[in-house]
Amino acid sequence: MHFLGLFKLCQRLLLFLPLTTASAAETAAAHKNAFHYDNSNNWYLDYPECGGDKQSPIIIKTNKTLEVSIPPITFGSYDVFFSNYAVLKNNGHSIKFNVPDTIEFIRPFITDGPLNGMYEAIEVHFHWGSPLCKGSEHQINQRRYDLEMHIVHLNTKYGSVEEAREYDDGIAVIGAFFKVEKTALPTFHPGLDTVFNTVPFVLLYNSSATTNQLFTLGSMLANINRDNFYTYQGSLTTPPCSQAVTWIVYPEVIPIPLFQLQNFWFVRDDRGRKLLNNFRPVQPLGAREVYHRSADEYY
Ligand SMILES: [Zn+2]
Repeated sequence: MHFLGLFKLCQRLLLFLPLTTASAAETAAAHKNAFHYDNSNNWYLDYPECGGDKQSPIIIKTNKTLEVSIPPITFGSYDVFFSNYAVLKNNGHSIKFNVPDTIEFIRPFITDGPLNGMYEAIEVHFHWGSPLCKGSEHQINQRRYDLEMHIVHLNTKYGSVEEAREYDDGIAVIGAFFKVEKTALPTFHPGLDTVFNTVPFVLLYNSSATTNQLFTLGSMLANINRDNFYTYQGSLTTPPCSQAVTWIVYPEVIPIPLFQLQNFWFVRDDRGRKLLNNFRPVQPLGAREVYHRSADEYY
């Protein structure tokens, strides 16, 4: 089926998922600022920036990207262990964890590459699909992947997310794709395993659970080549859709065992419904360019 047709089918299927017993009025009162994925085309009514011209996600068309000669990204403390257990939380839109400090007493950060300044990692969360639909937000050549992870970083010259999202250099997000590994034994990645295996304990809205193992933020990227990436200027993919994001998207796909992907399909949102297909439709690229930094780049 054409991907657009399949996407519409995914959205329609959402309507048949059961409601809880909470009345609509109760739900509305309890979650005034809630947004949902079954009406993402109307987000702009409450959040005008969602209708802007530098929105994310996008389709990355590899034959239209511009090859650039820029330094690799420097990963600071990314491969140093956290000093605390990460706490997974269901916020009704995704499963997320706040990035803990490392045993070097600082949080992991990124700099160089396309970035001016230092960007501290603050949050990791996921976007997924459903048994019928793949759930990545970005697409490469119209190909969607099973799962997409976002590592959100804040420019340290700003004091908070609220402040940073007002500036186009405020936020940097690393996007990485996952694809179900059907052959052989799954590769063991300690950080990813402990996070994915904790998902069944945060199925309900507002629930949280502590991961049972210390890991590094870098282990969330498995062993993909961090020097090969696409980059462009875009937005948060959830309201308020602030056009403040330097995106860094890795084309190399990380394998995930099917059972770990399936865990996400049982997550519930703030209405008690299954939270499926929590990806925003792709947005027009408009006048923007997408740049590619190749791993072969000698710098
Ligand atoms: Zn995201």
